[in-house]
This record gives sequence, structure tokens and C-alpha cells, in this order.
Amino acid sequence: MAVRRRLVAGNWKMHTTVAEAVSLAEAIGAGLDAHPACDVLLMPPFISLWAVGRHLAGDPRLQLGAQNLHWARPGPHTGEIAGSMLTDLCTHVLIGHSERRQEFGEDDAVVHRKLEAALSCGLLPIVAVGETQAERDRGAAAQVVAEQVRRALVGLSEDEAARCTIAYEPRGAIGTGRAAQASDAVDAAVGIRSVLGSMFGPVAEAVRILYGGSVDGDNAARFFAEPAVDGALVGGASLRAETFCAIVRAAGPPA
Ligand code: PEP
Repeated sequence: MAVRRRLVAGNWKMHTTVAEAVSLAEAIGAGLDAHPACDVLLMPPFISLWAVGRHLAGDPRLQLGAQNLHWARPGPHTGEIAGSMLTDLCTHVLIGHSERRQEFGEDDAVVHRKLEAALSCGLLPIVAVGETQAERDRGAAAQVVAEQVRRALVGLSEDEAARCTIAYEPRGAIGTGRAAQASDAVDAAVGIRSVLGSMFGPVAEAVRILYGGSVDGDNAARFFAEPAVDGALVGGASLRAETFCAIVRAAGPPA
């Protein structure tokens, strides 16, 4: 069985000025153990990636990611950022976050194009999937999530699939303070791994599957008690260094 090192990723969303982002990254660096048992990823806004990266240069405990990218190569796309513009600045990129799906109409086809673009540039994608509350209420969560995974990763090689991380984030849990039950996160992770298995065979075992949705210092341990959960995507609580470091500590080594 593949040993999957856990990952705790902080999505700072549209928060922090450049100076605030640098201070937050420094505070997180100061609050982490010397050798965290899991991978730690910070995803500040685009404009802070360079400054945060400079401040963290040489700190092997912290990795950097972007929150989005455009699917196209550099060209006439005002206000957008291409994958090749990110590779100097960070290793990871978040794709398909529910806020992008909701606010910017990004559907599974767009997510797929962005995923291909990220992989072609050598970035490590974190693909966010998750059902709406209405879909959960009518018992369609598993089916919706399975379709999102299939449509996002269709056509990838096994090698490309192995470079992906999937974040399961039920929309009703994001930013609401109402985290999912750990058992729901496990069900989703098991379902996602089974879809990946049907698409990519044994390589599916190497793919990390995170839970995201109102993870905080109090509830993180509940999710990390589950071997099926390979880490967390953290929004609000990643903006407080002390809480974020507590979540990292709770993650611990592979279960
Ligand atoms: C997120 O932004 O992916 C997220 C899970 O946010 P929050 O932790 O605030 O629910």
C-alpha cells in the first residue's frame, strides 16, 4: 500500500495585503515544529506569492501554492495568470474551488482545462470537488462528486493522475462553521478513491484526498483520526497562525 504523507493546505482566499501575507507566513513558520510530520502548503493571493516565497526561501517546512490559474498559455487574457507564470513562484495550484465554481461559473470542463494546463507546466494540482447542500439533501452527494472527479481527470495519464491531490469540500461546510461529520468525509474519500481506481488502477492509491470545510483547531483531530483522510484544505482558520499550526500538529504522520 502506498504511504501518503498528509498535507495541510491553507487557502487564504482574497485576504491579506502583501505585508500581511508575509507576516502571516512568518508567524506560521515560527509556530511550526522543527520537523512537521506532514506537508504544509500556504496559498496566499497571487500578488503575495513572490514576497512570501522570498521570506520563506530555504524553509523546507513550507510549500507555496496559487489559488487559481488560467487554462491558456500567456496571451491576451486581461487580468489572468498562466501556469507558466506561476512555476517560478510556487509548486502547487488549487483548481475548481467551490467559490470559483459558484462566483465565476467554472464548470467541470473548465476545471479539466485548468488541470491540463497546470500539469503541462509541472505544477501540482489540488482539485476541489464537493456537492451543494441541496444535492446532499436529496441523496446525490456521492454521484455528484464522482462525476466531478471523472470529468476533471478524464484523459490524464497514470503519471499525471499521481501528481494530483483531490480536496473533498461539501459546499454546506465551507466558511459556515458547520464542518461535515468525519464519517461523511470518509465516505467521500472512499468513493473518490474508488473512482480514481476505476480510471487509473493502482496509481489511485498514491493520490492524496483531503477534507475541507470549516476545519479548525477543535475539530481537526476528528478528521485526522480517519486513515482515509490524507489531510485538510483550510480556509478561515488558516488566517490565524496559532490555529493553523495546531491543525498541522493534529494531522501528524500518515495514518
Ligand atoms: C476553503 O476555502 O477551501 C475552506 C474549506 O474554507 P473554510 O475552512 O473557511 O470552510
